[in-house]
Amino acid sequence: MTIQQIGRPAGLEPQDSLSLPRENGTYALLLRLPADRDIRVGQLGPSRFTAGHYLYVGSALGSGGLAARLRRHLTAVKPSFWHIDYLRQAGMVTAVYYQTGAARRECVWATAVAQLPGATIPLPRFGASDCRCAAHLVQLTAQLANAALITTLSLTASAGNDA
Ligand SMILES: [Zn+2]
Repeated sequence: MTIQQIGRPAGLEPQDSLSLPRENGTYALLLRLPADRDIRVGQLGPSRFTAGHYLYVGSALGSGGLAARLRRHLTAVKPSFWHIDYLRQAGMVTAVYYQTGAARRECVWATAVAQLPGATIPLPRFGASDCRCAAHLVQLTAQLANAALITTLSLTASAGNDA
């Protein structure tokens, strides 16, 4: 399956997750932070996040698949487990990219987007406690956020066949 996307510049709502498959898969959240914020990200501690666009990559391999996980991400839940919960509370999700499949592709995606020109890692180890990636969160220029993402992720889909 190719990479699909849903998006809304004003921010996706929890009910938008109803259109997503209940199968397992890999996903990327595009978040917009409207203003600079100091956020304490769990055990990573306090960090300054500047206003702008961020991409977080994860995989949903549990019960309810992509639809259940994305419903959680589209609801500003009280942070309890994932690093992304802390950033999610401060911003909005403007797009979701996803690909169904049992393979855990999040590290391939995270590595690919981190290598985009203009992508930076705001907080090392964010979302990457259990792997060797620098982080599963990158900050993107507005231009990247609007244009290059789907192309980059699609390239990893054809090149990184890890199924
Ligand atoms: Zn990783």
